[in-house]
Formats: sequence, structure tokens, C-alpha cells
Amino acid sequence: MQPLKLLLNSRLPFPVRRHLSGLNLVERPLGKSIMILAPHMDDEIIGCGGTLCKHMAACDNVCVVYFTCDTAERKKEAQKAAAVTGIKELCFLDCKEGCLEGSREAVALLDDIITRYKPDLLYVPHFTEEHPDHRATLDMGLEACRRLCPVIIGYEIWNPLVPNFLVDISAFAEQKNRALSCYQSQLTLHNIQNLSNALNQYRAAFLKFAKYKYAEAFFAAPWQEYITLTKQYRIFYNSFLGI
Ligand SMILES: [Zn+2]
Repeated sequence: MQPLKLLLNSRLPFPVRRHLSGLNLVERPLGKSIMILAPHMDDEIIGCGGTLCKHMAACDNVCVVYFTCDTAERKKEAQKAAAVTGIKELCFLDCKEGCLEGSREAVALLDDIITRYKPDLLYVPHFTEEHPDHRATLDMGLEACRRLCPVIIGYEIWNPLVPNFLVDISAFAEQKNRALSCYQSQLTLHNIQNLSNALNQYRAAFLKFAKYKYAEAFFAAPWQEYITLTKQYRIFYNSFLGI
């Protein structure tokens, strides 16, 4: 199928409510075993922290895999943030930041975790993310799931995506902010709370009712379709850049 048709025709494999604005509003994606791949500690909260809190409030099985870790301080911050969201299952691959691309060690570790955990929903940095660690995390995640073929859910960190559904996180925005405040080392570099709040408020504005104050945006597709779209997007993007 052509990529544009895939984008337009992809049907979401969980209950969806068509909002008056024409956007798909999802209470939360449903899955028996949910895994979030985070290239860096804080990406999981920036991209899907509110939805993650919703999963935990509903007693879903959730595991977060952190790919990089340069300091013990950041690992402590991630553990503090997990205490706020309620996540118990944390896996640390402990790869060096900026060096994920082509890491055989990370691939082997991830293969092992995915074989044990068997996710049917896999959150990944969306294919429009440009950071090399974010791209490498996506590639490794898609490859490691080749036998399970779960539903892939792309989340946004530094490159806003074209969503095919939104999750209203208004009731969990305060909890998300508390989780972000645990990442003090990152807050000294960028105000990730302001960035994240602004993006979530922007997303909620598309729902056009005052009760929606914060929302997270995602693009989900079956595993095979997500791979096709990722490849096509990169061909398009590289040709656009003249690479
Ligand atoms: Zn990151």
C-alpha cells in the first residue's frame, strides 16, 4: 500500500471516539503488556507521561526501558520520577548517550527484555524525531519486535508529529509535572516542564472545549505499517535535505 494511503487508512486497534473536532480521542490505548522505550531519562515523561499515569491508574502492566545513562544522578532521577508515576518495572540498558546507533550490546539487551515481557503495545519515539539516539531507539525497538508484531505508538519529544489520536491528560497534568520536576539535571539545561506543558496545551486546544486543558498526541499503526512509513519518511526527508 502507498505510504499516504497507509497514513490515511490506518485503523486504530483500540477503542476510539471521534471528537467533534474530527480528531480521534482515545481514553487510553488498550494493551495487556505495555512497554515504553525511552532513549534518555525524561523522554518517557515528556512524550507520554500523562498517558503513562493513566495506564498506571487503570492498573495496566507497564514497563519502561531506558537506553542511555551517563550518570548515576540521572538514574536516581528516573527512579524518583517512576515513584511519582507508579511505574515499578524499569529496565536500564546503560548505553552511552550519543552512541546508540549500531550498538550491538543494546540490541542484544533489548531482544532479551522484549522476549521476556512480550509487549502488545510498544511506545517509541516517533519516526519524525531527528535526535540520533531517538532514531536508533525506534530502529532497535521495531527490529526487536519482529516476531511479536505489536501495535506501535509513536510519541513526540523534540519534533511535533502529525497525530492520528489524542489522549486527554488534564486530570494527570499535575502528576506529570511532578514527575518532570524529578529531572533536576535536565531542568538546568532546558525548562522541560514549560516545553511539555506548552505542547500539551497546544494539543488540547484542538479538542475545542475548555474542559480539555492538556492532551498528548500520538501516531499509532500496526508494526508492519509503522516500518513502511518510517522507511518512506526517511527516504522523503533525506531527499528533501539532498542527502
Ligand atoms: Zn531524548
